[in-house]
Amino acid sequence: MAKINEQDIDALRERADIVDIVSGYTTLKRSGGNTFKGLCPFHSEKTPSFTVDSARALYYCFGCGEGGNIYHFIQKVENLDFPGAAEWLARRVGFDLRYEEMRPGERKTSALKLRIIAANEAAARFFHESLMSAPEASDARRYLGGRGFDREVADRWRLGFAPGRNSLTTRLLSAGFTQEELIAADLARKSERDGSLYDTFRGRVIFPTWNLQGDVVGFGARALGDAQPKYLNSSETPVFQKSRLMYGLDRAKSAMGRGEPAVVVEGYTDVIALHEAGIGTAVATNGVALGEGHFEVLKKFTQRAVLMFDADEAGRGATE
Ligand code: ZN
Repeated sequence: MAKINEQDIDALRERADIVDIVSGYTTLKRSGGNTFKGLCPFHSEKTPSFTVDSARALYYCFGCGEGGNIYHFIQKVENLDFPGAAEWLARRVGFDLRYEEMRPGERKTSALKLRIIAANEAAARFFHESLMSAPEASDARRYLGGRGFDREVADRWRLGFAPGRNSLTTRLLSAGFTQEELIAADLARKSERDGSLYDTFRGRVIFPTWNLQGDVVGFGARALGDAQPKYLNSSETPVFQKSRLMYGLDRAKSAMGRGEPAVVVEGYTDVIALHEAGIGTAVATNGVALGEGHFEVLKKFTQRAVLMFDADEAGRGATE
């Protein structure tokens, strides 16, 4: 991982408004001068002992002793490491972070990763637009409606529909992505017959999946009707390592940080249904068996996990 430029770290800290960021997690009220007060997001309390000094850009809780600058706050509240917190904040305030010089090989890999994430983001947008308005997505809308997922749920989880053939490929090529980038992202595959590109996902309901920083790193796609396989997932790419990523963890990690156990379920729709029902710590694997790597990732956020698998053969196997 490239090192973030030190000057940018300082500049970003000066640019960001700590009161604005903290207000996303607790309600702050001015209590004279540059001091703001609110209920502490890190321990439960009834009277506010959490303070933010907007001039010095620092926070401190007189109840639990938690304190620091905006990076400490984001690391703690979003469960991120330092570079992750800086990147999170940069995205939030629209700041372009510079990275220290990398070796040519590193630079190439890192540039490709950024292109894959950008292609995934564009694809997620295309799939979501298709689901919301394309006439051929009516079966997909009916399927989701049958699950109790209305338009608002579809918006919140950026659910989509892949119209298929090569509609996504055509769209992304005209948006400036190269054939190599689309293949590396597993958004398109090459026909063995004539070498032309076709969309990886065709005629399927789409579930975008995110990394801990909130980037779209891959997709799960459910067949409509009897098409096989029932679920098709993006294959492994430089940004999508299925043995270490879990669907829903980007949203679940804050609740886990407050001490709630992880609820590990089997599929995308289970995760969505539980979150929508108020169980904010539900996660699932991205179509692979639950393994050691998943527990290592979960252990960073919680010490307890509840497994909720179907009582069928596959479910029992996974639970083992
Ligand atoms: Zn506190």
